[in-house]
Amino acid sequence: MKLFAIFGDPVAHSRSPLMHNSVFKNLHVNACYTRVHLHDGACLRDTFFALELSGANITIPHKEAAFKACDEVRGFAKKIGVVNTIINENGRLVGYNTDADGFIYAIASFQPIQNILVLGAGGTAKALVNKFIDEKIEVSVLNRSKERLGYFQALGVTTYTWSSMTWQQFDLIVNTTSAGLSNNDYPTPLEILEPLVQACNVCADAIYGKVTPFLTLARHHHKTSKDGADMLLGQGVLASALFLGNKFENQQIETEMKKSFLL
Ligand code: NDP
Repeated sequence: MKLFAIFGDPVAHSRSPLMHNSVFKNLHVNACYTRVHLHDGACLRDTFFALELSGANITIPHKEAAFKACDEVRGFAKKIGVVNTIINENGRLVGYNTDADGFIYAIASFQPIQNILVLGAGGTAKALVNKFIDEKIEVSVLNRSKERLGYFQALGVTTYTWSSMTWQQFDLIVNTTSAGLSNNDYPTPLEILEPLVQACNVCADAIYGKVTPFLTLARHHHKTSKDGADMLLGQGVLASALFLGNKFENQQIETEMKKSFLL
């Protein structure tokens, strides 16, 4: 039996084991998917091999460490330096990123989106911002601290910290911070966030499985909104296709993975 896992800190909230095991079970694949609580991203590679994993997903805060842990990084992950999926190819770790395409899948019903504000500047923000640039969507980034903004400035993206943010109208505001994941924080102070939410058309949160303060605010202002469940599904389908060696159609995987959302 092949073993797969998700690495993160925290990781207890992750629905990935349910999603991937639903695919394995329903497509009769002899494999199992578990979760690993990993504090130190530098231990990712050794832990992966110690557990004799065939593949893994990586969530907060280890996606940049996962990039460093790989022997080879392919496709979009190579461009952005952020890995959320690792495959064991004959003892070599090969990294991919499926988050950004998962998010594009999630916002497909919101079109047209031409102007996006991304809250946060971590691994998820890097993936999404690069994808938005590829899709020719105008994008700005607002983050709590300025340290991580240099990466986005080098891409030509307009960036703000809480102290430099000015009021503007955006088609979509997406929260990629972990504010609201295991606390009740807003991604920015309310006096900055509320006028932005009031003026935008759609709000999306990368966090799933709970109504975050950000989504509560969006609903309060009667905005169309969604949590990170569709993004989770999108990235999961693409990761599963890699785990299964592209032996199944994505649509087939999606059908089986969606069943886990009813559990
Ligand atoms: P990172 O650790 O790489 O980045 C976290 C970001 O959040 C940083 O910009 C950080 O700001 C900011 N932040 C953290 N705490 C706060 C706070 N209290 N207030 C304001 N800003 C804060 O995380 P990831 O990018 O990997 O993940 C971010 C979120 O996206 C997580 O909640 C994760 O669960 C979710 N996610 C969901 C997916 C899905 O499929 N639905 C896929 C991927 C991620 P600073 O730079 O100042 O520290």
